[in-house]
Amino acid sequence: MTLFIKYIPVKYERQSLSADLKTIRDKGFDGVFFPLGKPFESGISKMKYFPVARMIELTRQAGLKAGIILDCFQNQLLWKKDTFSAPVNAMGATFNPQKWYHPVCPNNPLGLDFYHGLLEKVYRLGQVDYCLLENLRFPFFWQAEDLDIQHRVPPFCYCPFCVTEFSSMMGEVVSFAGQIIEMLPDWLEWRSGVVMNLVHDARDFLMKKTKLIISTPPLALIDLPFATGQLPLAFVDNGCLIAPALYHQTKIGNLLWIEDILDQYRLEFKMNKLFPIFKTRDENDLNNYLELISTNNFAGVIVDSWQSFSNASSENYSF
Ligand SMILES: [Zn+2]
Repeated sequence: MTLFIKYIPVKYERQSLSADLKTIRDKGFDGVFFPLGKPFESGISKMKYFPVARMIELTRQAGLKAGIILDCFQNQLLWKKDTFSAPVNAMGATFNPQKWYHPVCPNNPLGLDFYHGLLEKVYRLGQVDYCLLENLRFPFFWQAEDLDIQHRVPPFCYCPFCVTEFSSMMGEVVSFAGQIIEMLPDWLEWRSGVVMNLVHDARDFLMKKTKLIISTPPLALIDLPFATGQLPLAFVDNGCLIAPALYHQTKIGNLLWIEDILDQYRLEFKMNKLFPIFKTRDENDLNNYLELISTNNFAGVIVDSWQSFSNASSENYSF
């Protein structure tokens, strides 16, 4: 099982990256995942990207594997554009971002252009060991909200792009959520088709360049298609790996909860199709997780992230 760590810098600094990569390797990690896009900065109107080609080169020189993180349908900068329109819930209210999460509807043309632009950038990088597609789904802020099982319809999205697309697929005008409730099986199937088409785009375009990993929120497997439109089994059938986020803001460190989620995956998947992501606060945390999963034959494991991990480690541990 290969052990990766997310490396999320504020900015690129060659020397500190080289030094960190050496430490990462010495700590026993096999590889690093870098974000493609730089973090959002207010006052900047154009998306900025890390020099990932150079970062990958340094990673390989350090004897590590390299992966790229694409944040697909979540982008604060797109929200700043005049032509942007926010996702809409079943009550007709637009998404109101309270924290960092700025979801973009996967049917929004701005979001689609952005997504395909990201795929182009990876294509131009040449060979990359892995590409982790995050937020490739309909909006759902799992880091802050639990899925309310009282929901009769998925929380998002009912924006004009979604409703128009769905109407044309059904061959009748659907204009309000009440109608959608009556057509729920079709609506759910259509949503999953939207996400699946995006996965096909990535697969067809990048198949020869990289292995695709698709991250999924830490929901019960049965709730994933409902809340997000994601069909993990179909992703695997299309040659992708699945990265369930085995952590939750309210459940970090709860190993029983992780066992429970993993049990669900064990029933449906070969373990070598999984690439789970853990958020760890320190090395102690990490060791607990690793002990828990040591008997699983995962394709790999991603630890989130070097920056939080090393900050905590330098306070609590000496190495
Ligand atoms: Zn929408």
